Amino acid sequence: MNVNLEILENGKLLPLVEDFYTIQGEGFHMGKPAYFIRLGGCDVGCEWCDAKFTWNPKTFPPVFVDEILSRASSFPAQAAVITGGEPSLYPLDYLCSELKKKGIETFIETSGAHTLSGIWDWICLSPKKQQAPVGNIHQLANELKVIIEQEKDLIWAEENAAKVSQECLLYLQPEWSKYKKIIQPLVGYAKQYPKWNISIQAHKFMNIP
Ligand code: SF4
Repeated sequence: MNVNLEILENGKLLPLVEDFYTIQGEGFHMGKPAYFIRLGGCDVGCEWCDAKFTWNPKTFPPVFVDEILSRASSFPAQAAVITGGEPSLYPLDYLCSELKKKGIETFIETSGAHTLSGIWDWICLSPKKQQAPVGNIHQLANELKVIIEQEKDLIWAEENAAKVSQECLLYLQPEWSKYKKIIQPLVGYAKQYPKWNISIQAHKFMNIP
């Protein structure tokens, strides 16, 4: 997927799907109020993706980041979660530096499929087998969150856990449509190998975005 940086004015414009104030449902920051900024475009192609509507960036014409910032700062959010789609497709330095100027922490959810730009308070790396992370993103990650659809995905989880820093927190998260089938094996695995934590998509249980 080619990103036309001129059209995006080096990150002053970004293809926005939606932005909203909610509660982070997953991983280490589960339960934390945060302003979500969802960018369009993803070339990873996970079969079970619950955000397939975001894949084609042409569906989401670029909008001025300043407009997003103005909305974000109208809420009392202490953190913004940049998600997608795959946000690492885009230049994110401007978005991050302006969020930080407003005193809003910068969190990202990324597969690491592209080189990451921006200044981050929290990087959640969720690696996908079909397009593995690039560069040194494993070493930068604060949190590794591996989506588990079937037990053999635990091999992929361990392969990625071997690449992250010692401080990086490790999460196994059941793929939503397989939740009932996979949650017990994951609980058992985490009890056996307690470096792992379980992440569930709590926002889906709370019925919020
Ligand atoms: S990387 Fe994320 S947005 Fe892209 S296909 Fe996979 S789950 Fe969907």
